[in-house]
Parts: sequence; structure tokens; C-alpha cells
Amino acid sequence: MLTLANARLVLPSGVVDGWVRVQGGRIVGVGAGAPAGADGAGARPEVVENVRGRVVVPGFVDMHVHGGAGASYQSGRLEEARRVAEFHLGAGTTTTVASLVTGTPQGLVDGVAGLADAADEGLIAGIHLEGPYLAGSRCGAHDPALLREPDRDEFARLVEAGRGHVRMITLAPELPGAVDLVRDAVRAGVVAAVGHTDAAGACVREAFDAGARVATHLFNGMRPLHHREGGPVGAALGDARVTVELINDGVHVEPEVVRLVFAAAGGRVALITDAMGAAGMGDGSYRLGPMSVTVSGGRATLEDGTSIAGSTITMAEAFRRAVEVAGIPLEDASRAASLVPARALGLDHEVGSLDVGKRADLVVLGEGRSVARVMKDGRWR
Ligand SMILES: [Zn+2]
Repeated sequence: MLTLANARLVLPSGVVDGWVRVQGGRIVGVGAGAPAGADGAGARPEVVENVRGRVVVPGFVDMHVHGGAGASYQSGRLEEARRVAEFHLGAGTTTTVASLVTGTPQGLVDGVAGLADAADEGLIAGIHLEGPYLAGSRCGAHDPALLREPDRDEFARLVEAGRGHVRMITLAPELPGAVDLVRDAVRAGVVAAVGHTDAAGACVREAFDAGARVATHLFNGMRPLHHREGGPVGAALGDARVTVELINDGVHVEPEVVRLVFAAAGGRVALITDAMGAAGMGDGSYRLGPMSVTVSGGRATLEDGTSIAGSTITMAEAFRRAVEVAGIPLEDASRAASLVPARALGLDHEVGSLDVGKRADLVVLGEGRSVARVMKDGRWR
């Protein structure tokens, strides 16, 4: 049993000076002030660690990430998945949904099958299919030649190949059959997300009414907000059922817009990295699925310069920027980095907050809100 005492705990209800106790990989106690005595028969001897007033937040939940440390989830290879997960774990991400960009039918099946092994190993919490049913006019860094119309049989094959680990699919609701595919996803227990779309607001609302619950990287890869046609942005911000992802890297969305989104949809904002292989690496040439990407000054773009191609940030950086650059209160930024994505994924009974019974996944922050230590499943990494 381990108790972290003298901690500045970021709880869903606010910031509290207190303690958190973990045992057997779970949080078994949380409280204000000095630690209460450990009770319960058979409890193991207690170790108390003084964290000296440091901020402790729940482990970050990244629901949209492609890679890091020079590696990518796309191939589904276990070694690579391990490298990506390990890198992001070092930056506080204790729960990951691995994203696959649009690929060939066989490439996606192979990727999903490989990542299902990674999920069985506990490296990732699930798989996000970003595509292949996306709008060509809003395809961003997805290979336009590989985009296709929604194919319910293909989707069923991918769900099967994922052995229960496909957690989310992003699609463009204006494509033929997309709304039926949203319904299939809901039935299969897969979160349907709207993204890479040129749809008008009414079409997006239809997808939400059919069960879609996430807007994939709000603003990026979608028709912009217009005051006479709110499009996907207006529909998502206006629907209390919908979680909106934000890539808060200072490249995809400016701080003023981050503040606007938090003001409009505070309890529904999920910070994501959308990181690709270059995260944690230097500038240079990288791959994002089948596409060649150039990273310069930390900014990833397609080789031909036509689109931003994922980010190079970590969740720790997305969280730090939310607080320090956008001025979002600590507890709101923490919720956006943990509880909101956990809820959107249906994982909030297990992770997402420092609550008794949940997994002991937490991050101790150091100077300048950097990551000092990360605990996953009750173990310091
Ligand atoms: Zn995308």
C-alpha cells in the first residue's frame, strides 16, 4: 500500500490539498488534509511518500494518437506499438486509443488485427479507425486515392478482426450509407465520430441523432463554421451529447479558439494529441500511413505542403498549453485531458479521475507543469 501525502490533487470537483492511497493497482482512498489511517484487515504495511505540494492529476487519456518516438501504430506491429505507447506513457498518457489512418482494405485488417494483440497486452485501450470513409475535399493527410464510400461489410470485417478492441470510427456523414454505418457502429459498441467532413449542419445533426457522439479534431479536416451555416462545428458545439476533440498544439487551433470552445462546451472538450511518429523526435522526414510527411520546427505537413499532417505533441504538452497558453483553469484542463475522453470511450468506470475504485493511473507534475513521475496500474513507470 502506498500513500502519496501533501499532494495538490486535481479532482473533478476542484483542486484539493490532500492525499491519495493506492493498493493492488487501484485507488483505495482519497482525502483532504493529512492522510487518514489505513484500515481494513489484511492491509499491507503502508508506505507514505511526501510529494511536497506537487500537483497530482489523473493519468492522461489520449483518444486519438497515431505514433511517437519514430514509430507508428499503423502497421499493427507489436514492437512498434510498444515503442509508441512507452513514449507517450513517459509523458503521462496512461490510456491510449491507437488511431489508424485510411489504408487499403487488407492494410487496415492487418493493422487492426495487430493492434488487437497490443490491446490484449494492455498497451492500448482500443483502436480508432480514422477513415476510410472520409470526404475527399476534407481529407487532410489521408491518401485521397484510398478513400471509399461507407461499406458496412468491410466495417463488420474490421470489427471482427479487432476482437472487441475497435472502439471508435471517424466518418463523413454526408457520404452515401454513412448514417446506416453510424447505427452499425453503435450496435457493435463502437463510438461513431464525425470528421474529415464537408457536411452541412443538418446532415451532421442526423448523424448525432443516429448515435454519433464525437467530433473528431474540431475545426481540422471539416467545413469551417459559418454564421449562416454552422456546419459540423456548429452542430457539435450545439449538441450536449457530443464530445469535441481539440488538437491543442498551437498549430491546429489558436489559443483564442481553444478558449472559445471551452466556453461553449466546457465539460465536453477532449484534448487529443493526434501525434504522429515525429513526436519526441527532431525535424525530418516521416510517414503517416502511406503519406510522406515533413516536420520542420515541430510542425508536421504533407511533403507537398498541402495539409498539416498530425501533431508532434504529447498529452502533457496539450495539457500544459491549455493551462498556460489558453488560460484554462487547472481542473477544467485536467478533465479535458482525462475524464472527458474516458467518458466518450465508455472507460470512465475504470480511468479518468482520482476516484476510489479506479485504476491507480496518475501523473505528478514538476516545475513548469512538466511531468515529474507517472504511475500506471499502481506502479511507477
Ligand atoms: Zn484527422
